[in-house]
Order: sequence, then C-alpha cells, then structure tokens
Amino acid sequence: MLKVDSNISFEQAVAGAAAPKHIVDSLCLIDVHYWSFDDCLHQGQLLIHEDTAQDVLAIFALIEKTRFPIGKVIPIVKYSWSDEVSMADNNTSAFNYRTIKGTNKPSHHGTGRALDINPFQNPVIYSDGRILPTGAVYDLRHKGTLFVDSPVVREFMARGWRWGGCFESLRDYHHFERPQT
Ligand SMILES: [Zn+2]
Repeated sequence: MLKVDSNISFEQAVAGAAAPKHIVDSLCLIDVHYWSFDDCLHQGQLLIHEDTAQDVLAIFALIEKTRFPIGKVIPIVKYSWSDEVSMADNNTSAFNYRTIKGTNKPSHHGTGRALDINPFQNPVIYSDGRILPTGAVYDLRHKGTLFVDSPVVREFMARGWRWGGCFESLRDYHHFERPQT
C-alpha cells in the first residue's frame, strides 16, 4: 500500500514563498516515490527548478529501485518555510527561497536547484565540529546515509550535480546542488 506523505497543489506549495515571480514561474512540483524507514512505499512531492526535473526524477527512480530509504519528502511550505524545522523532522526538500549571505543573489535552494536528503542521517558538520540538525549523527552503518561511493551520490555527480559532502569549508552531507549552465 502506498503511503501518501504529500499531495498538495502547486499553488499550495508556493503559498507565502518570498521569491520574485520569475523564480516561482520557473518551479515545478513533482511526485516522487520512495521506500521509507518503515519499509513501506511512500509518495512525496518536491518543488524544484523545472530544468532539474529530468535529473531528479531519474535519481528518484534509482532511489526507489535500490530501496535507499528516504524518511519523507514534503514541500517546505508545510514547515512554514523553516529549514530548521524541516531538518529536525528529517524531511527531504528542495526549493526554499533565500539569498546568499551579504548579497541579494538567490542561493541554489532559492532557485530550486538544490536538494537536501535525509538531514538526520546526513547532517551538516561545521569546521568547529558543530552538527545540524541537533542530535544527528553521521554514521555510514546507518541506513539512508550518503557517502562518496554510494549509488545515489554517484548518480547525482554523473549528472553534473555537486555534493556538499565534498565541500572544503564544511561537510554538508545532505546537500546536492545543480549549478546553472
Ligand atoms: Zn541544502
């Protein structure tokens, strides 16, 4: 039986987004299927830039086929646009409008070109050792954890995406981004 984690309309998914109109107009809402940690097949939704839809659908086809577990995939509007609350709920998400610190340029999440997967299994670890979300542990033995040779990471990289697990300044293990070409 399919468990539905999210089934909202595009209008509902972008409601209250602080983004300019041209950015909202370039987004699309896609349905994705995945096996969650309860060993059931789930349906969720991702709000992404339309240019990345083909990649993201192909990557989720691999995620479903290999049964790489994903906790849940719910547009961040359901978390009142709070990345922190979404991460604490181990939610996988993409678009969330924000600008790069000190500029008015949107970040990759701000244009829907970035995707965060299972933040609890794949936290961000800062150079001073701080870990977000609070209480998360990065342990390769845990299901749903991403590492450099894992099929999901390899599939993203083969499609020209960058993985935050390879960043120099911090390790952002849940984060993938597709630079604009
Ligand atoms: Zn991210």
